[in-house]
Amino acid sequence: MNQEKLLWKLQEFKQDEAKLLKNEASNLLLESLRELKERIKSGEEQISLLHNEIEEDNNRSMELEKGIKCLNDQIKEGKEKLYSTEPESMKELIALQQSVQKLECQSEERENIYLELLEKTEACEKKETKLKEVSKSWKMEYNKSIRKYKKMKIGMDLKLAEVKCKQEEIIEQLTPEVKKIYQDVEKRFSINFVALLKKNSCTGCHIEVSDNLIKQVKSGKGYYFCDNCGRILLSSV
Ligand SMILES: [Zn+2]
Repeated sequence: MNQEKLLWKLQEFKQDEAKLLKNEASNLLLESLRELKERIKSGEEQISLLHNEIEEDNNRSMELEKGIKCLNDQIKEGKEKLYSTEPESMKELIALQQSVQKLECQSEERENIYLELLEKTEACEKKETKLKEVSKSWKMEYNKSIRKYKKMKIGMDLKLAEVKCKQEEIIEQLTPEVKKIYQDVEKRFSINFVALLKKNSCTGCHIEVSDNLIKQVKSGKGYYFCDNCGRILLSSV
């Protein structure tokens, strides 16, 4: 293979490498994995907050239950006293009745708070269950995507190694002069350092080149560069 063809081939392999690195499917998958991970993390935080809230509410419910039971015992005691003993005076009877009524009011108030709390806890528990289910499905999706990504990555790494190997093989065949030229131009045009002269224009920048350069390139003697962009300009490959 002549040096021009080798340069052209090298450029093709450099382009293949760039395509592999730009692999959109794998980048998209990676992006969705990151999103999924964030979602799982925030879901776990929400579950933990809900769990603490439910625990606190349960403790409060137990306290309320105890308080209600205590009040109900007092009411029972008060009523027994009211119906079984003969009050000494009307005043004492009224005071006893009022005291029982007051206790009943307190008990009812606490019952209402207790019921509201139960309803709230039930809603929290439902929310927690739902979140746990959703989180589980996210985790399953994450694991599935991780497996898919790893498989894709292995395939991509293999292809990349292969393409790199081919590039090395070509670079080894380049003469020191051409190798230097390629390395200089590659610094500016990493994947399109070689252009062709087509209809008096450079296929790299699509601008017409000077008559003198056209003659030089067509002569096939030596290596020339586009006088506009600086790419290595070949008449053909
Ligand atoms: Zn050019």
